[in-house]
Amino acid sequence: MAQNIPELYGSLVFNNKIMREKLPKDMYKALRKTIQNGTHLELDVANSVAVAMKEWAIENGATHYTHWFQPMTNVTAEKHDSFISPTGDGEVIMDFSGKELVKGEPDASSFPSGGLRATFEARGYTAWDPTSPAFIKDGTLYIPTAFCSYTGEALDKKTPLLRSMETLNKEAVKMLHLLGDTSVKNVSTTVGPEQEYFLVEKELYKQRKDLVFTGRTLIGAPAPKGQEMEDHYFGSLKPRISAFMHDLDEELWKLGIPAKTKHNEVAPAQHELAPVFDTTNVAVDHNQLTMEVMKKVAEKHGLVCLLNEKPFEGINGSGKHNNWSMTTDAGENLLNPGKTPAENTQFLVFLTAVIQAVDDYADLLRISVASAGNDHRLGANEAPPAIVSIFLGDELTAVLESIEKDEYFDAKKSVQMDIGAKVLPHFTKDNTDRNRTSPFAFTGNKFEFRMLGSAASVANPNIVLNTAVAEVLRQFSAKLENVAPEDMESAVHELIKETISAHKRIIFNGNGYTDEWIEEAERRGLYNLKSTPDALPMWIADKNVKLFTEHKIFTEGELHSRYEIWLENYIKTINIESNTMVEMVQKDLLPSVFKYMEEVSQTATLKKSVVSGISVETESALLEELTQLSGEMVKGLDKLKTDTAAALAEEDAQDSAKAYQSVVLADMQELRTSADKAEALIPDSLLPYPTYGKLLFSI
Ligand code: ADP
Ligand code: MG
Repeated sequence: MAQNIPELYGSLVFNNKIMREKLPKDMYKALRKTIQNGTHLELDVANSVAVAMKEWAIENGATHYTHWFQPMTNVTAEKHDSFISPTGDGEVIMDFSGKELVKGEPDASSFPSGGLRATFEARGYTAWDPTSPAFIKDGTLYIPTAFCSYTGEALDKKTPLLRSMETLNKEAVKMLHLLGDTSVKNVSTTVGPEQEYFLVEKELYKQRKDLVFTGRTLIGAPAPKGQEMEDHYFGSLKPRISAFMHDLDEELWKLGIPAKTKHNEVAPAQHELAPVFDTTNVAVDHNQLTMEVMKKVAEKHGLVCLLNEKPFEGINGSGKHNNWSMTTDAGENLLNPGKTPAENTQFLVFLTAVIQAVDDYADLLRISVASAGNDHRLGANEAPPAIVSIFLGDELTAVLESIEKDEYFDAKKSVQMDIGAKVLPHFTKDNTDRNRTSPFAFTGNKFEFRMLGSAASVANPNIVLNTAVAEVLRQFSAKLENVAPEDMESAVHELIKETISAHKRIIFNGNGYTDEWIEEAERRGLYNLKSTPDALPMWIADKNVKLFTEHKIFTEGELHSRYEIWLENYIKTINIESNTMVEMVQKDLLPSVFKYMEEVSQTATLKKSVVSGISVETESALLEELTQLSGEMVKGLDKLKTDTAAALAEEDAQDSAKAYQSVVLADMQELRTSADKAEALIPDSLLPYPTYGKLLFSI
């Protein structure tokens, strides 16, 4: 049935329109000021908002509220409190105060803190983030909040994200003022995350311990067909998938999430959803919600949504593309090449700032997407390589080259002449280039950071990106600050020129999947941090500690705490995978192999008893192969168990993580090889779990 979408859209969100309707005028104004300028919120305003929120929530069926936050796990956290307040005569009223809106005090002791929170001070607090709208889900009013320890250290992803947006705002505004645009009050970053995912049959999912415990398959022989026919990408949607996507869109729209594009992806059973971009903070919250809603809606359709980065071997895994830009309060996109030379100057300043930021902090960007799951993608020929580089396209690269060489650039004729003058070239936007192998691509009026994994929050990459760009803008400002107005143009030109010259090594327009690029990148001195344990130590390298502490994004303690949490998370993830694999091979697959061997032996014995002297060569050969493989599996299990125990026993977390990566993962791969060969030999009826063929092609 056709619905009134504009009416449906945001119907569960306490948005600006509702606030204007529900709040007294002065209160509404004060709240808008807080949202737009980040000014302090007075308690009387908070009280007024709380009353309006509660009334609206109750009208819309809510009985509870929750401070919704993003601890250092991959999921969000919530504790629901009802609005009821006993009046003493056996009755209740529905109550909610400004204090309850603004601050919560959950017990923080069971969330990862990386050693930040001393055990004697288990309390943490959540603080309302008025810049991300509250919403209703399942009868509860959700209030987006930041989560800190009682002594003020960030225990979540939102706190540093908001700090990074603030620092970028400050530095970008300062730069714009220096460039002569003094009307700008505010610059915010924008993000549009494209989300990939798999859908599998729920009944089949439940039969796979690896999917249930780890989110990805640890064994599984390839199906007869994979993605080689290239018939899934943008293919027509199967009715069940279409029904799922339809429901998903509606649920997201109700929550004010502007889901826009949906399509089938490259791998069988793989799909993608992209929203319209939003302010980073809101986009990050929305992406968290989107992942959650995807899972919930899938369940309703008898499906399971897999968000793991590498659910299946041999076909593409899932990532997320973080489309990123900066926009002024007047709505001007700072990465939009302009029509006039002045606009172009501004564009080039911000463009080169991003180029330098990515070059200076490529290690941090790599870390910001590092996880056990994503390690299976980065560097494989399906996702960008683990080396961070920037794609600009031929035209923009030519423009930058002409600046570097003091040549004149003519876009139309594509000729470059030396004019000697220190003026910036004229060029207009003409960006039709596409490069799918670049980790960080300029796509006309935004950058697309493509290394993100599908399961992780998009907060980290944006914290790094915002802070790194802010730092470069700060350096730029320092160089331009004392320049006389009449010298500004040539100073800016010189700055851009210097920056290009110093950082052009990060620009690579070619194919990132080739071995030649890996060698070339090494010659250029770019980082190639192949795995999470290789990358993580850079997080606390001096230059990075300096960056984050100077911009007040993280204290040194907070940085170390995150490093610990990520290492532990990596260790635990692979430990669970190893345990699961042991269980599946030992308790499920091996017994199936033995059962099949028994059947085959019985067939041989029976044959011989009926026809004396008959050949049982086939049976013998099969038995031999299965014996060989089961022998390998038993040995592989032993080795995996021993090595896992040793990796776990490593005292130093960095050593432990490295042992999991270099030894345990290799063991798992080896065990998998025998297991998959055995699986391919035994009949489906004896297999303890559904095959790749069923998982990928049954819907
Ligand atoms: P693609 O060809 O990669 O699908 P699209 O133009 O469709 O590119 O955009 C992909 C994503 O980029 C969408 O989520 C879109 O809203 C987002 N996007 C577009 N402009 C911006 C911007 N200025 N800042 C951040 N994200 C943006
Ligand atoms: Mg894209």
